[in-house]
Amino acid sequence: MKKIKYPPLKREWFVCPVCGTKLIIYDNTAVLSGGEYIKCRTCKNEIEIKK
Ligand SMILES: [Zn+2]
Repeated sequence: MKKIKYPPLKREWFVCPVCGTKLIIYDNTAVLSGGEYIKCRTCKNEIEIKK
């Protein structure tokens, strides 16, 4: 039987560029199309999520 090799799962934090708060964690299998915004709970800025 062949072993199935999974691509290494790399997890990264998306960090607020304004204040450095960790906003969400995403992995490299996540599809981020862009144009999505998340509101930072610390500085209240709306941050565009892009890789
Ligand atoms: Zn912030």
